[in-house]
Amino acid sequence: MEKAVLLNDKGLTPETILSAREAVVNMGKELIERKLVAGSWGNISVKLADGVYAVTPSGRGYANQKPEDIVIINAACETLDGVLTPSSESKLHTAIYNACPEAKAIIHTHSIYASALAAMRKPVPAIIEDIVQIIGGRVNCAEYALPGTQELADNAVKAMNGRKGLLLANHGAVCWGKSLDDALIVAEILEKAAQIAIICQSCGGAVELSNEDAEIMHNFYEEHYSKRQLGVEK
Ligand SMILES: [Zn+2]
Repeated sequence: MEKAVLLNDKGLTPETILSAREAVVNMGKELIERKLVAGSWGNISVKLADGVYAVTPSGRGYANQKPEDIVIINAACETLDGVLTPSSESKLHTAIYNACPEAKAIIHTHSIYASALAAMRKPVPAIIEDIVQIIGGRVNCAEYALPGTQELADNAVKAMNGRKGLLLANHGAVCWGKSLDDALIVAEILEKAAQIAIICQSCGGAVELSNEDAEIMHNFYEEHYSKRQLGVEK
């Protein structure tokens, strides 16, 4: 009863919550199709309001996921609504929302090339323009911590450095966006950049863009290009 009142207090109607759950389910299928996750690995969340998030359940495959499987949690990762156990990486998600008020959705992938750099504990260098436009520049690899721990969440926040993505050492990638679709673009661009970086490393290395150029391109993307993609600017 108390939890239902809390959701109501945040202006969240059953319809809003259902549509967030449906969006998370659909994104799970998208991630499988785009080979960014496999089986039940990785996880997805969206922010419904301050301190209220819809997150994928722990250990359940994406292929047959239903909206009611998505768990509504609070900032302490306690279940507000739902019957399944929330993702074991819920702390990682809430820590990023807490550190980044702009973040409205988070996708954690185990995509191959990002994971390969994460296994080497190397960053994704800023060697291609789209990674700096969309993500902001070089993407750091966080210090190693065991999965599901507060330490992993804390290390991830430290590694973000104003970017929309980071690598988790020996684990995978985490990306946030201003919407689920935005987070998906970040995840795809990060994976592509990681693949290009590995190709370049095997052929003598690439030249990294300067911080100054990266900032100019990222600011232009944020100020104009992303708005054109959304149709709010001509
Ligand atoms: Zn993971």
